[in-house]
Amino acid sequence: MELTVQDSIYWIKFANERIQSEKEYLTSLDQAIGDSDHGINMARGFQQSVNKISDGSYVHVSDVFKDVAMTMMSKVGGASGPLYGTAFLRLSSAVKEKNPLDHKVFVEGLEDALNGIKQRGKANKGEKTMVDVWEPVVTLLNKNNEVTAEEIVNTAKEAMEHTKKLVATKGRASYFKEKSIGHIDPGSASSFYLFESLAKVWKSGGQA
Ligand SMILES: [Mg+2]
Repeated sequence: MELTVQDSIYWIKFANERIQSEKEYLTSLDQAIGDSDHGINMARGFQQSVNKISDGSYVHVSDVFKDVAMTMMSKVGGASGPLYGTAFLRLSSAVKEKNPLDHKVFVEGLEDALNGIKQRGKANKGEKTMVDVWEPVVTLLNKNNEVTAEEIVNTAKEAMEHTKKLVATKGRASYFKEKSIGHIDPGSASSFYLFESLAKVWKSGGQA
């Protein structure tokens, strides 16, 4: 997988389409174990990001990700804005001034983004957060560059569904303790849409 400026823009556009159509679903997930704002926050963050990057003419992929990061941080409240903002900022820094991104550079960038999420959220795998989707996907991508779009989608989806079995220990969901079992973590669901959208770009080579 090689990621061009155009691919990175498609990635965010596809993610936005998915987030917009699942806005109510994300809200319902956050109603169960949070404060009901995840759908609204993600819908705003991704729409504003698409608006921002649609206006730009970019030479480097890192500048696309930087604009997404800044938009997430400035336009989105709650915990999710800073977490997604941190992820895209770390990704942007890691791939600075490179275009296109080869598989190795891109995956190293995603790894940095994951570490940024962990630090910012003080979360590790198994705590029913977006980390529970990001970590298995990054691990899969790290294994080889022959990974298929289907493998990415399946890994992200299984990881998201696995959060049902976990007890939340971070964020607002942690107030629910054992009662959080049986519910999908909202941040893991939005992260699934993000990686599903990446898989779509992967599959189409940006020609979708
Ligand atoms: Mg919330």
